Amino acid sequence: MTFGATLPEPQPPSATPPVASTTPMPIVVPRTGNGKLNVAPGTSARVGSGELIEYRVEVEDNLPVDPATFARIVAATLGDDRGWTKSGRYAFRRTPTAPLRIVLSSPATTDKLCAPIQTRGEVSCRNGNVVAINALRWIEGADSYGDDIDRYRQYVVNHEVGHTFGLGHQGCPGPGRKAPVMLQQTKGLQGCKSNPWP
Ligand SMILES: [Zn+2]
Repeated sequence: MTFGATLPEPQPPSATPPVASTTPMPIVVPRTGNGKLNVAPGTSARVGSGELIEYRVEVEDNLPVDPATFARIVAATLGDDRGWTKSGRYAFRRTPTAPLRIVLSSPATTDKLCAPIQTRGEVSCRNGNVVAINALRWIEGADSYGDDIDRYRQYVVNHEVGHTFGLGHQGCPGPGRKAPVMLQQTKGLQGCKSNPWP
């Protein structure tokens, strides 16, 4: 075998030690947004067979998430067979003008949208016709879900939308049981197992 010309030139030692290549670049969530909320354009197909709930999706302008991506995850969660449509009581459709607003917002803007509910820059809320999802939690998740950000996102959407149906909080029914979706799973699991579905 000949290697010859195909071999790369040996690299000189670099002056600074390389950063470990397995460390992803952290996504930085600005603590304060500029308050401008961009509505995801377009309309989604109706999912579910029950009472139609129309919602719109908005994302604060200076967050590292674009409205179409956030809208896609929200729609996938609300349209999932394991979600709120399962009972046959609810159906969903996203439009740009629906009164129910599902907003991804910086911690400071979340606090404003949620007041007088105290979100302290840390958590999300439902306040009237606004579901404000804190971008810090959306990006970083919560201890109760470990590294499983996708499942945490499903949880937070389902939980806050559950409040729009008039549902309140529930406790853990027993050690090792599945957490009710209306348990405040961001704050801990009370001995239950994390569960994003109603
Ligand atoms: Zn809640």
